[in-house]
Amino acid sequence: MTQPEPETGRRVDRLDGNAAGGPLSEIFGVDLTDAIIECRHCARSCPLAEVVVELDPDGLVMRCRGCEHQLLSYVWAGAVRRVRFPGLAGLEISED
Ligand SMILES: [Zn+2]
Repeated sequence: MTQPEPETGRRVDRLDGNAAGGPLSEIFGVDLTDAIIECRHCARSCPLAEVVVELDPDGLVMRCRGCEHQLLSYVWAGAVRRVRFPGLAGLEISED
């Protein structure tokens, strides 16, 4: 689903967390789609694959499906890649 972003009018795709798996594996070196993430705002825990991802050509934003707060942002435009964790309380990766 594509809808205009209210602040900028840019078009962003709203997808599930699987869309973040590839880009985040560039930073973390592992597939995080099965990782359990916890929202700092509402304490909801779920697999990363279940969060809302807003994706555009310059980066992505992950939002909590429970409260819509921003969990993580990753911008890869230009020479610098920047990851921020404004609403991520935890990230748990299991070996199996
Ligand atoms: Zn939340």
